[in-house]
Amino acid sequence: MGRFSLGALLQKPYIDRMPRNAPSTPLKKKKTIGSSSSSPRDEVMEIVKSSQKPIGAYTILEKFKKKHPNAAPLTIYRALEYLQKNHLVHRIEKLNAYVACCYGHGCAAQFLVCSTCGTATEIEMQAFDNQIGKVARQYGFKVEQSILELVGTCSTCA
Ligand SMILES: [Zn+2]
Ligand SMILES: [Zn+2]
Repeated sequence: MGRFSLGALLQKPYIDRMPRNAPSTPLKKKKTIGSSSSSPRDEVMEIVKSSQKPIGAYTILEKFKKKHPNAAPLTIYRALEYLQKNHLVHRIEKLNAYVACCYGHGCAAQFLVCSTCGTATEIEMQAFDNQIGKVARQYGFKVEQSILELVGTCSTCA
């Protein structure tokens, strides 16, 4: 029977096993909600973010009106336009609704859209993005917006 040496185990340097420091800053800073100085953009962003499913502009307006009874649809559309341009929200054509971007990754976005329950799951396909960009360049085309919607049935509804 071989001799088991606990001493040898304990002599192993521990320095390389030290847990790496956890990132001290959270990935996404939480914005303080409810401050009176928040702009319509911030409020629209909060409404879109707090929605479980893609949310239509009309529903956003309804929610917005709870705080601002005289709000005009244009305010919502302008805010949504700004948020889209800055890649904070995406518009799902199939549902005619908006979702908050979960990656903040520029112009390309891919979604799995469930036609039964109306959820839209954002997925990342870097290889697809690269390929699309390559093909577009071959045509001398400058892509400003790229959204792929795969419509079907989600695992919950299947
Ligand atoms: Zn996104
Ligand atoms: Zn579903």
